[in-house]
Amino acid sequence: MTVTNSPTIISRQAWGANPLVTPAGAIATPTLDLWLHHTGGAGSGAGYMRSLQQGALRGGYVDLEYTLVVDNRDGAIYMSRGPGRNTAATGGSTGGVANNARSHAICAMGNFENETPTPALLDGIASCVLWLAAQRAIATPVITGPHTDAPGNATACCGRNLIAQIGAINQRAAGGGGGTAPAPAPDTGGGPLTAIASPQRGNPAGRTPTARPVPALGAILLENGAALSGDKPSGANRVWTSSDAAVQAAGNKLLDIAPTIGADGRPDGRGVVALFDLGNNQVGTYTLPWS
Ligand SMILES: [Zn+2]
Repeated sequence: MTVTNSPTIISRQAWGANPLVTPAGAIATPTLDLWLHHTGGAGSGAGYMRSLQQGALRGGYVDLEYTLVVDNRDGAIYMSRGPGRNTAATGGSTGGVANNARSHAICAMGNFENETPTPALLDGIASCVLWLAAQRAIATPVITGPHTDAPGNATACCGRNLIAQIGAINQRAAGGGGGTAPAPAPDTGGGPLTAIASPQRGNPAGRTPTARPVPALGAILLENGAALSGDKPSGANRVWTSSDAAVQAAGNKLLDIAPTIGADGRPDGRGVVALFDLGNNQVGTYTLPWS
């Protein structure tokens, strides 16, 4: 398959969706979070979509829970609730807002505790990511992490074998994007990220960071093996979350972390954190004690 921001998406009519009595409510976009799920069961194709929707309706949901669903057999992408709609996929809340109302959700058909994700599935999910970004439904073309990493969720979803591939999916998305270019990025004040890219020589984990353009931010996203106290990597190992109260208050979405360097050229025990501020839609920096 080709990773593209304009993939073929099988419409609700084409897969035989049940007409909706009450469509899912609208949410503010772009969202900063995009969580990855799996169905946890076996199935494929339009028939599986219909049975998933029937199960959701029987369970009291207004519709199939996710934004988009991708088939592990062939990477086919199915429209579920679509962008800009409240999901019923990711419990818990972040910053006092229900995760379902401040994120989108892609679901892979299968149980990836046992099954192996196909290359077609990975490409299909990557194309979903790019398409959602092109629709301005998500702020950055990356999967935030697996369902289990969403605050307040205790689950194995989206299964260990797929969780292990989230970094690869994000790389596919970063390398793809054929077709029409995404809409121009808003001015989000991306300057601070380039400003902190230089002190990487003090990275105590010794990993080499990789600069990447983040179109929706107009900024630089760095892979970084370093961590501040309480940090934990997402499945993507690129976007980090933090337990620090100051960071959480600003949106808990770290883009990069780096130790600061003292006058003697050595790490001074502090670190600079760059993050995307949910409240202000801006990139900001914080200086925190280093772990
Ligand atoms: Zn899930």
